[in-house]
Parts: sequence; structure tokens; C-alpha cells
Amino acid sequence: MKNESPLDFTIAQNRAEFQQAINETNTRIEQNFYSAAPIIGGKTAKTSHVEVSVDPSNPDEQIGEVSFANREQCEQAVSLLSENAESWGETPAHERAEILRKIAQGMRDRRNELSALIIREAGKPWKEADADVIEAIDFCDYYAEEMERLAPKRQLMDVMGEGNYYFYEPRGVGLVIAPWNFPLAIPCGMTVASLVTGNTTILKPAEQTSIIAAVFAEIVLQAGVPASAFAFLPGDGEDIGAYLVNHKDIDVICFTGSKSVGLGIIRSAAEVKPGQKNVKKVIAEMGGKNAIIIDEDADLDEAVKGVLYSAFGHAGQKCSACSRVIVVGDAYEPFVSRICEATKDITIGSPQNSDTLINPLIDHTSQKRVLSLIDEYSKVHNLAFRGTTPHKGYFVPPCIFTDVDTSSALWNEEIFAPVLACCKVASFEDAIEVALNSQYALTGGVFSRSPKNIELAWKKYRVGNLYINRTITGAIVCRQPFGGSRMSGVGSKAGGPDYLIQFLEPRTVTENTMRRGFTPELI
Ligand code: NAD
Repeated sequence: MKNESPLDFTIAQNRAEFQQAINETNTRIEQNFYSAAPIIGGKTAKTSHVEVSVDPSNPDEQIGEVSFANREQCEQAVSLLSENAESWGETPAHERAEILRKIAQGMRDRRNELSALIIREAGKPWKEADADVIEAIDFCDYYAEEMERLAPKRQLMDVMGEGNYYFYEPRGVGLVIAPWNFPLAIPCGMTVASLVTGNTTILKPAEQTSIIAAVFAEIVLQAGVPASAFAFLPGDGEDIGAYLVNHKDIDVICFTGSKSVGLGIIRSAAEVKPGQKNVKKVIAEMGGKNAIIIDEDADLDEAVKGVLYSAFGHAGQKCSACSRVIVVGDAYEPFVSRICEATKDITIGSPQNSDTLINPLIDHTSQKRVLSLIDEYSKVHNLAFRGTTPHKGYFVPPCIFTDVDTSSALWNEEIFAPVLACCKVASFEDAIEVALNSQYALTGGVFSRSPKNIELAWKKYRVGNLYINRTITGAIVCRQPFGGSRMSGVGSKAGGPDYLIQFLEPRTVTENTMRRGFTPELI
């Protein structure tokens, strides 16, 4: 497969076309073109519980109305998808793979419109929005290819008189529960993985980004996924999300989100309900508190640039974002002074402006939570830099704390915002120890010019995705399969060669092939 290329915004024509897509999407938004509602059996069914999705940069502006699914609709969806699990599961794998390629094409055809919607509903800047869309396209193309690789049955051990075959079958009904921070790529990746492996699939998007997810659901059905194999259920996670997790007829749950919700899902799914046939399989990708180590000999030009983007891109709202920096020896003071200076120059504002790096947080709840944490932490830690923000919108200022005590909550708890904590250590070995002394193990980074220390990081810096002398965000499907261990998740890496197997059940068939007489009446 070939990864979709990011848009080159240095080309004037690309910029103009992208701006035009934003303008057109804005016009459609003003005309109330977009909405989200449950889709069951291919039919959209509005409900009486309607919430409004707003623009995080300007909450007075409504992106669209979202009809929240109720429990009765959950029942309808699960029952339809259970009844049709066998027929979708028996659809030849190459046909399901072809449908994924059509979903990819459907997104390519609407690429800039999807980016524009991501800018408006999720508040992501231009480059981040475009990256979200191409990652979604990559997931479709990659998982299509992967399913074709896994589909043929394999003969094991060629033994005379015995045929041994190993092959994969779908698990049944899949439930996908998605976060808002990659509002297209993550729901898309999880949904198409579940579908291509032959599981009928429910997508429960994040409340905050239901409109983008609804456009994706439309593309899924237009591409040819049968209406009986896919349901879209926007709604409240604590209500219908939990209800679906507990449903006896859900066979595989694919979740990406916070640690607390993920652990709750793992706990609930482990309880067997009356009438339940299968032990539920749970794939849960959760949080991170990712550290970049700056070695004493690191190229600080590169390190400052790398930390800046890793920590503040999408306002730090990436599970892979850098929130801790560990600097070795004499590099500490120059690094801290340079990162604070560099942060002063970052553009904070509406993601509709092409030069924005720090966008607003996703919603008012996050903004309130983070502002109060910044206040609390600045009373006990050294706040070396605090930026300023526009008045309107859910912005929080980028903050850099220095000399942070590594046993503090600031150092250890995920904040999910542009808040960076720095500390100094005496040696590279100490840096690795401090980095790993964390409940999470998702991404990690190293800036160093020492081959010996780089080798040590390869060996000892055990995180899901380790990046050396570069940024630690922006994993690319198939090139950098993504996912963590410890409290960062259970499951194989998304966009990697083991991912689809989690949605599948392996079977072995052994046939005695020795001749046992002739039975003409059976011919
Ligand atoms: P969240 O856990 O609040 O919500 C995620 C989803 O779970 C939403 O769809 C929500 O409606 C649903 N949900 C909430 N309560 C539920 C319940 N009781 N039962 C079932 N579903 C429920 O997370 P978020 O705020 O959307 O996303 C941010 C978090 O996601 C961060 O912690 C981030 O690190 C993590 N994340 C991890 C990865 C990864 O690959 N490891 C990727 C992206 C985001």
C-alpha cells in the first residue's frame, strides 16, 4: 500500500482550494446542512434528545444538531446486527476489502470538506485536520490489504493422511467507542477494522464530534457496507456506551479514550450476562504521559522544535503528545530558556487561520478543568512560562513548568492540554529511569547525538512508540504502527500487522484424508 500524501500547504493552489473548502463548509454549516442521528438498518431516526455541536473557537456558532440514540435504539441495532452477523461474516473477504477501498475513495472525494469539518467541529488546525483525513484513508487501504493477507486458510504440517487447516473467522457483533481528538481517523480505523474482519459493527462516536462521524457513517453506507451490517449510534457514553458494553450480544469492543473509562469497560465486559455466548474481547487504547529526553549533547535547535510541536500541536490533545521533558546535565538551562522563548512566538487562535498551532480545547468542561489545574499547579511548582489566549473560545494558555518534582501529580497525571513539565537529571541512564517511572507507556522521545545513548534508549526505553531525534506525534499507518502498554492500553498496535487478528477468532480443522471405502449413494 501507499500512504496518502499530506497536502503541501506551501503550494498556493493547495492553500486556495483548502480555503475554498472551508468557505463552502462554513456556508453549509450556516444553512444547517449537517446533523447527526442514529442510523439503524440504513434508516436515520431522529430522537427527542437533541444536543447541539458547537465550534470550540466560537461556541456561539453551531455546527449541527445531534440526536442522541436511546436504549431502545441500541436494542434494535444490536438485534439487527446479531441476526446479520453470519451473512456479513460469510461475505468473501476480498469483497469486504473492496468496500473498504471504496470507503477510502469516498473520503478522498470529500477530503477537503472533511478537513474543514474537523477544523470547525474539533478545532484542529489545517495541517492536523488534513493529517486526520489521510490517516483515515490509510487505515481503509491498509486494513483492506491486511484482510486479504489473512483470509486464505493455511495448511499446517503436511502429514500423510491428515489435512490440518488454520483460518480466521469474525467474532460476531463489534462495538466501536471513539474519542474526539482524532475525530475521523480513530473512529474510521476501529470501524473499518471491525467491518473488514466480518463483524457487523456499531459505531458510537464521541459526543463532541458526532457531526464528522455522521458524515463518515454516510460514506460507509454509500460505499456498500450493507445496512444490516453497520449501525451508527451517536449519544451519551455513560448512558448508551455503558449499556452497549454490557449487552450480552456484543462480542468485541474496540475502545479508544481515557484510562478511567477504558478500565471501566474492561471491568464491565468481563462480567458474563445471562444468555451471553462469548467472552467479550476488549481492545482498549488509553492515555499517555509521554516524555522526551534531551541528552546533554543534543542539537538544541532540533530538540526545541521537536518538543514545541510534540507538546503544543493540537493544543496538546493527542494521546502521543509530549507532556514531560527530561534534560540531562548542562543542557537544562539553555533548553528551558529556549523552549520558553520559542513558545512566545507560537500562534494561538482559531484553526480557521492557516498559521495557528495552538487551537482551543474541545469543550468548556476541559477548559475549566485545565485552567483550574494550571492555577493549582502554579501554586506549588515553578511556572516558567504562561502564554496568552484569545478571549472567546475554549482556549487555555500554553504553560511550561520547570524543576518539577517527579513524584507530583503534575508530573504523573495526564492533563491533555498544552502544559509541559520539565526536570533536570544527572545522566542519560537517570533520564530513562525517570521517563519510565510512569503508569503509562505510550510514546517517548530522545534527542541525542551519542550513538551509545541512542543504543541504550533502543534497549531500555520501553514505550509503545519510541522516536529518536524527531517529534513524537503523527504516527503513520503501516510505517509506525501505534499503541502503548501499561495503563496506555491493551491490544496490538493500530495500523500494524497484528491489529486485525484481534477482531478474529482462529479455527483449526483437521480432516482424516485416508480412503475409507466407497459410498456411491453419497455421490
Ligand atoms: P473518554 O474516555 O472520555 O471518551 C471516549 C469515548 O468513551 C467517548 O465516545 C465517550 O462517549 C465514551 N464513554 C464515556 N464514558 C463511557 C462509559 N462509561 N462506557 C462506555 N463508553 C463511555 O475520552 P476522550 O475525552 O474522548 O479522549 C481523550 C482520551 O483518549 C485521552 O485520555 C487520550 O490519551 C485518549 N486517547 C488515546 C489514544 C490511543 O491510541 N492510546 C488515542 C486517542 C486518545
